[in-house]
Amino acid sequence: MNGKIKELMDTVVKNDYCIGCGLCASLTDSPLTMMLNEDGKYQPYLSDNNHNKDLEISVLSICPFAKNNNKETEIGKKIFEEENNVEFDEYAGYYIKNYAGYVKEEEFRSKGSSGGMGNWIATQLLKNDLVDGIIHVKSSPDDNNLLFDFQISDTVDELLKGAKSKYYPVEMSKVLQFVKENEGRYALIGIPCYIKGVRLLAEQDKIINERIKFFIGLVCGHLKSDMFAKSMGWQLGIEPDKLNGIDFRKKLDDRAANNYGVEVKGEKDGKEVVLISPTKELYTTNWGQGMFKYNACEFCDDVLAETADVTVGDAWLPEYSKDSMGTNVIVVRNAIIQQIFEDNMGDAIHIEELSSEKVYQSQAGGFRHRRDGLSYRLYLKDQNKEWRPNKRVEPSNKHSSKRKRIYEKRTFLSQESFKAYKLAEKNRDFDEFINYMDPLIKNYNKMNAPSIARRVLRKVKRAAKKLIES
Ligand SMILES: Cc1cc2nc3c(=O)[nH]c(=O)nc-3n(C[C@H](O)[C@H](O)[C@H](O)COP(=O)(O)OP(=O)(O)OC[C@H]3O[C@@H](n4cnc5c(N)ncnc54)[C@H](O)[C@@H]3O)c2cc1C
Repeated sequence: MNGKIKELMDTVVKNDYCIGCGLCASLTDSPLTMMLNEDGKYQPYLSDNNHNKDLEISVLSICPFAKNNNKETEIGKKIFEEENNVEFDEYAGYYIKNYAGYVKEEEFRSKGSSGGMGNWIATQLLKNDLVDGIIHVKSSPDDNNLLFDFQISDTVDELLKGAKSKYYPVEMSKVLQFVKENEGRYALIGIPCYIKGVRLLAEQDKIINERIKFFIGLVCGHLKSDMFAKSMGWQLGIEPDKLNGIDFRKKLDDRAANNYGVEVKGEKDGKEVVLISPTKELYTTNWGQGMFKYNACEFCDDVLAETADVTVGDAWLPEYSKDSMGTNVIVVRNAIIQQIFEDNMGDAIHIEELSSEKVYQSQAGGFRHRRDGLSYRLYLKDQNKEWRPNKRVEPSNKHSSKRKRIYEKRTFLSQESFKAYKLAEKNRDFDEFINYMDPLIKNYNKMNAPSIARRVLRKVKRAAKKLIES
């Protein structure tokens, strides 16, 4: 077998650091094919064991989680440093300006996950004839048990059909092969590690470099296996193989933006149904507990898609979260996109400039886990002499014992959730999942609860505030 492919399989894939992006399988003559594994996560499989030929590009040089591809800052520097008025922030990477905002025109905001900026920016690229097609994730048209996949939209109507976040496994091998075979100018929407991977590919592949003109990044907490979608449908009465569709970000009028719902479609008791529930009321949806999380996400330090021309996420700040329609946090790194914002502010869009500090705060939990927590996870890997990719974060053991236990337990909860789900599926009973996970979650919550001293202090503060106000 080709030595580089063998090394990829023996390190990244074997040790469960594969994020399933499909870059390795997209290369011409690659013997790899992307398929879902038993945990509902994409990974490459060898379709031809006797493949000895060297590929034109080494799989190790483009895989986002290969040993030495911790290059987010380096890539950002090469691409963005030349832009006018660019600044650097250790969390956002290079940036021109940051904003909070939403789209005022048409249906972008109501159809979007947050303020609708993701698809609005893509629309501007199409309307201004800067690209011919947008590579993004839409409902899968094929009868293949997959709910979503990467497709290319070349009209605004098509683009809007693919609005909203897909917390679901997707891979890019086929869509990148299409780009290579079909001339055109494209923009790619993706999570941070996917964008970094395609940037690495573009450094070596002339066609990809010429054709993918813009990268729109999504802020990322972590990616989910397909068990996340299936478990939500199941809790609402749709068995995993009867789930036909899911909206992970149903806006609920009477609730804050961060208290959104989920809408599932499928067959329940022999009838086609559409069911909605506030997401937080479902058992598997606490993002801090990280159920069905790809292990690779535990070893990622790029929350704000630092190699993208523009990044959009949720402005999880109290002043914006109260609006159920949703508000984006936006980091702009490309001068053309900055100009689009300036030309449209006030009319088509509402935007307010944000400091880097505020951008950080909007994702503070994510940064704690992916920088502070990552340093401890790296330390543990080194202690156990286990393979791991290099990261921009250094390994460290200098955390409070409580924080260390929280990070350890989160990893454990995530790993156990896969086992619990498989057990439930085997017995065709979701209660099996709850019975398995409940003691683990109780144990985690107990450790996470504020200490008695802190609870007493909070009570005293509340009483004092009441006294002052009366
Ligand atoms: C796995 C994942 C984790 C995320 N974690 C966070 C987080 O921790 N914090 C945070 O603030 N925001 C997070 N986001 C981003 C957030 O959910 C919204 O996608 C973002 O705010 C854009 O909303 P919008 O209304 O502007 O987008 P829209 O106008 O709805 O446009 C979204 C665009 O993104 C495309 N898209 C959706 N999912 C994917 C995908 N998986 N891969 C490629 N393209 C996709 C859609 O097809 C659409 O074109 C995450 C998104 C994903 C997919």
